[in-house]
Parts: sequence; structure tokens; C-alpha cells
Amino acid sequence: MDSSHGSRPSTPQQPETRLVTAGRDPKAQKGFVNPPVFHGSTVLYPTAEDLHAHRAEFTYGRHGSPTTRALQDVLKGLEGPQCAGVGLAPSGLAAITTTLLAVLKTGDHLLVCDNVYRPTRNFCNGMLTRLGITTEYFDPLIGAGIEKLFKPNTRAVLVEAPGSQSFEMPDIPAIAAVAHAKDALVIDDNTWATPLFHRSLDLGVDISMQAATKYIGGHSDIMFGTISANAKAWPLITDGIRQLGVCAGPDDVYLALRGVRTLSVRLAQHHRSGLEMARWLAARPEVARVLHPGLETDPGHTIWKRDFTGASGLFSIVLKPAPQKAVDTLLDTVKLFGMGFSWGGFESLIIPFDCNEYRTATKWSPGGPTLRLHIGLENTDDLKTDLDRGFAALKAAL
Ligand SMILES: *Cc1c(COP(=O)(O)O)cnc(C)c1O
Repeated sequence: MDSSHGSRPSTPQQPETRLVTAGRDPKAQKGFVNPPVFHGSTVLYPTAEDLHAHRAEFTYGRHGSPTTRALQDVLKGLEGPQCAGVGLAPSGLAAITTTLLAVLKTGDHLLVCDNVYRPTRNFCNGMLTRLGITTEYFDPLIGAGIEKLFKPNTRAVLVEAPGSQSFEMPDIPAIAAVAHAKDALVIDDNTWATPLFHRSLDLGVDISMQAATKYIGGHSDIMFGTISANAKAWPLITDGIRQLGVCAGPDDVYLALRGVRTLSVRLAQHHRSGLEMARWLAARPEVARVLHPGLETDPGHTIWKRDFTGASGLFSIVLKPAPQKAVDTLLDTVKLFGMGFSWGGFESLIIPFDCNEYRTATKWSPGGPTLRLHIGLENTDDLKTDLDRGFAALKAAL
């Protein structure tokens, strides 16, 4: 369990409070609020007997330190009572690949939603294929209809809610009910909402992973991944992590811990600003459609309202038909929206994307050029002014 700060409250703390109190042990840190960054490989054992018995609070650098434990305690508290443990990985993609390698074996069948993060798909089609594991992609809106895709050797279902480019919202409880009836595990890439806004382990997910590079880190300065699992899946995950030798660097662990302490205020702002910008964009004459499950008009809104307590700052827009050159002029004109991959930091971003480059189970025909925006922590009036200039440049280039 986490080492609570001060006296133990009799009622469970709210998530925002737990983000502040969990994983703290000031007595062990000579009174300092934060743990030191333990740079360590070797851990010394006081006696031969202790060494033989591997008797020590920490046994070896790869297996954890007080710094990693503090972060794991915070994340475990955030995931809720279903969480049996949290593994740390050097990137979000490493968290996904470690999870899949920990869970699957040769001859297994894996179901993956068609809107999955593209490098995840590359891993399934590449290394998993080489290992004799077959992947089948499904429509993210399939719901309980996923039942017909199950085979006797289907071992796991991987969902992403919502997809981080096209924002379709899968019905996780419906998918999980089928998967569990078939004795398969459910894995959720929960990077978009984080466990603060989406407690996926409470909704039937067995393994919830995140690219902590995004909102947990929150400052565009680390690569990091986390794997949270329930009691059923945690033995597989912890064993997989050990066998693969997966661990994260101590400075990045510390920065993830530092980032997660302010997750609730940052995400609340991303939620507010993201929705405000989404509504503003929906009313623009240049925009055909906004893909944001927090909007009442979005097809995924009902599920979002049921399963999520907030939205992050990432969503997409479909522009009315325009040549690529004119869209590029918009991209080159905006200044507050940087062009770059990743998201979840304090700054706004914009990129063009085309899901058709990789989809196989579903057809993507948005009807116009698509842009993905990350709404950062800037003032939204400034962001609107910036996009106004971008839209003016787009119109001039038509
Ligand atoms: C960024 C991202 C990842 C991969 O994380 P990295 O830390 O970049 O490896 C995985 N899933 C989603 C949804 C992401 O956005």
C-alpha cells in the first residue's frame, strides 16, 4: 500500500487528494517532501544470510527503488481498488509491447481495435507475427458484436478509448463482458483520458496502460510508460517485466512523479480549454466536423458520459474540402500551435493525419482534410486569435 502522509483518514480520499498524499514518506527522507532520485544498480546486503534469502526491502536497481515505489504508489491510488500493481517502462510503446509479450504465446489470437496507435499495429504485424501470434483488427464501434470474432485461441482484446486520431469511442464494458465470458484478457491504452478521467480497471479492463510521456509527465520532457493490472493479470505483467528486463531510468521516474502530482489541475484545464476550442471550431465555416467525444453532437458522447469523468485536450477536426497546399499554409501560419508528434505537454500542437494509411477493418472517409489538435495551457483567446490567422491564410490560399 502507499505510505500515506500524516494521519490516516477514515474515508477514502478523492483522487485529487490521493495524487498529493500517496507515495510520500517524509520521515524516511529526513523531512523533505519528495524522495531523492535513487541512482542505483547494486543493493548491499548486510549479512550472508540476508544475501542467501534475498532479504531486503530493495534487491536490485532493475527491480525498483524508493523513487519508483513512490511513483507506483501514486499511480496505484489513481487506478483505484481493482489495481494490484503498476509496472514502469521506458516508453509508452514499451509498456504496450511488454504487456503483449507478457500475456501472449505462440499460437494465440489477438483482437485489436482498428483505431489503435499505429506503432502498436506495427508491433502486432511485425514481431508478434514472427512469434506466431495472429492479430485481427475490429471496428472500434463493434460493442458486444465482437463475440463473432472470437476463436478458441483468442487470448486478449486490445482497445484504445478513444482512438487518438479519429476519436471513435469503443464500448469497453460490452467488449469486456464478452471477452471475460471467453476467458480472454482486456487491455486498454488509456493514454487519452488517464486513470483520473477513466478508471478502466473498474469497467472490466484487466490491464490498463498509458504513454506517461503524455499527461503523466505533462511537460514534453520524458519518454515513459506505465502498466496497471488487476489481480488476475498482475502476476503475468510483473513476471514479463522481470523476464524482459524492462525498467525506467531514475531521472525519468522522478520527472513522472513530479508531473503526476499536478495532473488534476492540468487535466481540468485541458478539459475546459479543449471543449471550449472544440465548440469554437465546430462553429467555424471552414470546419465540417469536430471529432471530440465530449461534444453532445459526437457519436461517442453517450459512452463518454457514462464511462469518463472528463476529456483531455486532444481532439481532431475535419476541414471542408481544401487542397493540401492550402492546409499547409494554415499549418505554417499558426504560431502557438507547434507542429510535432506526441501530446499531453503544456503546449498546443497541430498535425495533419490520414487514418487510411493503416486501417484494415474499417473505412475512413472523413470527407475533407483532417487535423489533430492538442489544446495546451495557453489562454484560449490567444489560441483562437492564432487559429483565426491560420484560417485567413487557408482561405487566401484556396
Ligand atoms: C504516444 C502514444 C503511445 C506511445 O508512447 P511513447 O511514449 O511515445 O512510446 C501509445 N499510445 C498512445 C495512444 C499514444 O498517444
